[in-house]
Amino acid sequence: MTGFIPRDSAAVDSPPLATASDIIHLDMDAYFASVEQRDMPLYRGRPLVVCHTDDPNSLRGVVSAASYEARTYGVKAGVSVLEAKKVLKNAIFIAGNYDKYLHTTRQIKEICRRYSDIVEVYSVDELFIDASKVKHLFGGTARVALEIKRAIQNELNLTASVGVGPNKLVAKMASEFNKPDGFTVIEPDDLPDVFAPLPVGDIVGVGRRMKRHFDAIGVKTIGDLADVPVDYLTAKFGIVGAALHNASLGIDGSVVAGRQAREIVKSFGHTHALGSGISDKRELKRLLLGLTEGVARRMRREGYYGRAITLRLSLARMFSISRSKTTAYFTQEAKDIYPVAVALFDRESELVEQYPPTLIGVSVSRLIRTEDGIQLSVFDIIERKNKELTVAVDAIRDKFGERAVFRASLDTWKRQHHTVPRLEVAK
Ligand SMILES: [Mg+2]
Repeated sequence: MTGFIPRDSAAVDSPPLATASDIIHLDMDAYFASVEQRDMPLYRGRPLVVCHTDDPNSLRGVVSAASYEARTYGVKAGVSVLEAKKVLKNAIFIAGNYDKYLHTTRQIKEICRRYSDIVEVYSVDELFIDASKVKHLFGGTARVALEIKRAIQNELNLTASVGVGPNKLVAKMASEFNKPDGFTVIEPDDLPDVFAPLPVGDIVGVGRRMKRHFDAIGVKTIGDLADVPVDYLTAKFGIVGAALHNASLGIDGSVVAGRQAREIVKSFGHTHALGSGISDKRELKRLLLGLTEGVARRMRREGYYGRAITLRLSLARMFSISRSKTTAYFTQEAKDIYPVAVALFDRESELVEQYPPTLIGVSVSRLIRTEDGIQLSVFDIIERKNKELTVAVDAIRDKFGERAVFRASLDTWKRQHHTVPRLEVAK
């Protein structure tokens, strides 16, 4: 790298690098396909494609998992069933049984919880475990990780790739090192040597678009990225820039969200009652701007950024509507939120004329937070969606029992799992 100022010149408040590798990441290998192969001897050793579709005989739908036998043909999650059937003439195509997978995930979680009660179900096939409080009972975090891996193998007959590192970012990258059935420990002291030569695309959250940009400026490895001044990165990628800089150094301030650490704040919103109704659109937009500024101010004060903007209108005391749009960027600024709210408002122009609003409101959800003013982790930003749904599913099950997860939420999960706008998950 030439032409860049050395990174030391950039002032960054980074979370300190942990001194011990106490975070475990479990990534189940070809999860849905492995569960099916486990339960059906006929499927073993053959290319098996689990589809997200009502009818696996049709050509519609999308692949939600492929066995390793199918992956050698390039078929993987996210590919259309049509494409998969073109390259895999003799494969078995089945519809996914998501209730079964979620149930199995719960079993995996229970196994992990025998060792530590700080367990985060991060997505349906990935879990984080914080072993810092319990490692002395088992002879170290690596032993905890190995025992969990063995218990999953023995009791559930499934393999997991396991990574151990000083934080979630490093642990997650470590679990990628040796798939399937891998086991990789990265100690803090080894971090710079291990990280620097890796391709920059290996950082969790660096998607194709970002990678293209890095290619263009000659940043090929994580080591190269560490040399890019943080100011450059923040100018280019907004709040994600600082997180990227930290990530390049293996620094990640996010915590393993056990049961106690669940997000409480879901949205920030302000509303304004309008008496018997106002139909003057300019006046309504002026009010909307004031509400938006209030919301943005509160978000900044409490350190939140959000992506989903919702407009609420009560119309002539007769009915209420809410309209939402998800933006490409996380923001906490009125200048980003207001135009979206206005666009939503303009679309309801006719309704507003017909039924003068008696209440107007704006809110921002899909939140992420900078923890106690610490730099945001790349990691926190990116797979938030998976996490939200896992937590939602958990919450439903805690409340209503195992059978209460509706197909609707699975569909939501699926949609979210396959579409990660702007920041594509590197997979
Ligand atoms: Mg997996």
